[in-house]
Amino acid sequence: MKLESGEIKIHQLEKICDSANQATDIRRQFIENKTDTKLEHIGSYSIDMTDTSKKNIENPIGTIQVPVGVAGPLKITNDEETINTYVPLATTEGALLASVNRGCSVIRRSDNCKISIVNNQMTRAPAIKTKSVFEANKLKKWIEDNFDKIKQLAETTTSHGKLLKIDPIVIVGRYVYPRFVYYTGDSMGMNMVTIATETALSLIEEENDIQVIALSGNLCVDKKPSAINMVEGRGKSIVAEVTVPKEIVEKTLKTTTEAIVEVNYVKNLLGSAISGSYGFNAHFANMVAAIFLACGQDPAHVVEGSIGITSAENKDGDLYFSITLPDLPVATIGGGTRLETPSECLNMMDCKGSGKVNRFASIVAGIVLAGELSLAGALAAGHLARAHKQLGR
Ligand code: NAP
Repeated sequence: MKLESGEIKIHQLEKICDSANQATDIRRQFIENKTDTKLEHIGSYSIDMTDTSKKNIENPIGTIQVPVGVAGPLKITNDEETINTYVPLATTEGALLASVNRGCSVIRRSDNCKISIVNNQMTRAPAIKTKSVFEANKLKKWIEDNFDKIKQLAETTTSHGKLLKIDPIVIVGRYVYPRFVYYTGDSMGMNMVTIATETALSLIEEENDIQVIALSGNLCVDKKPSAINMVEGRGKSIVAEVTVPKEIVEKTLKTTTEAIVEVNYVKNLLGSAISGSYGFNAHFANMVAAIFLACGQDPAHVVEGSIGITSAENKDGDLYFSITLPDLPVATIGGGTRLETPSECLNMMDCKGSGKVNRFASIVAGIVLAGELSLAGALAAGHLARAHKQLGR
């Protein structure tokens, strides 16, 4: 009644209700009345809204349900360990799990998948205004000369984060864009590096005649496809490879090494070059989105995970196949990973908590490799089938 009369606002419910779950239910009933709908399934949930409404969402009315399935087992070896696990994937796209599952089977039978994490960093790049191009260049030099002092201050805000470098420092007119690059442990790190950079900026502002225009100046680059992330990396930069013996290409993928190599060249390399795409791949985003949804990763980072390159080579008749994911922000601590269903999915793969982020990142790369392999195989098999039909006639 208080909501209806306007005496209280919908964001104030948590303050006056007995529990966050009760606030959620009342807010949902209010919305049901206002919109003349029944939100039965949104209202059927098992998670505790107490911390969720403080850390993960405002104005909650319930949860959504996305079907989750498993693919695997996926058998991969990264720089530290061999992993053999089922992988939870959440999607509404029929055929995705079946296809990824087939890729896992090819990888398992080949039994030589190697995954390496080549870079591990999270970035924040503010935009700073100076009085002239001379001042802009002076600021760049000051930041370079005072890196140790800036690092010391930035790291007072976090026990896990480390400022690795401020590079590049780009000048455009009288504006300066320093790219702060951090190690963030098992967290994805966006909140961590935002807080650390804000603190570092207070020192830069104190000692220079400048004005911070925006804490993020888009050279980071967060949640947008970009060339700088492709080259410099962001989040985890990962490469994965597998050599599929000729017989497995023919029996399981029902095609040939030559056909897959040609499909990859024409579609993933030439086609992407024509279109000016940063995604020199078939469908990284499908696998990244499905595992991100299941495991409580920030879904907007799928746009970054979608960039990267798939390569295929003929190795004496066998298929050498690899994927490169330069920009994969992932976490096993913080953000959405603390929620109930992501916790279950991460636990299923022994990927929850401290010391697990490399394991999780490797599994994401392995599942992307599986999906790419299966789709390249399907396209090549279709191409072969058409060729057979034509030749048969
Ligand atoms: P967070 O949930 O804000 O914080 C994670 C914290 O966990 C770290 O700051 C760290 O504390 C602590 N921690 C404990 N054990 C750790 C370990 N082993 N490794 C690393 N940290 C550990 O998470 P976040 O990763 O910084 O940020 C993720 C959230 O940011 C997501 O919800 C995402 O949606 C959101 N986000 C924010 C922005 C933004 O601009 N602010 C942009 C995009 C996304 P200490 O720092 O004290 O060590």
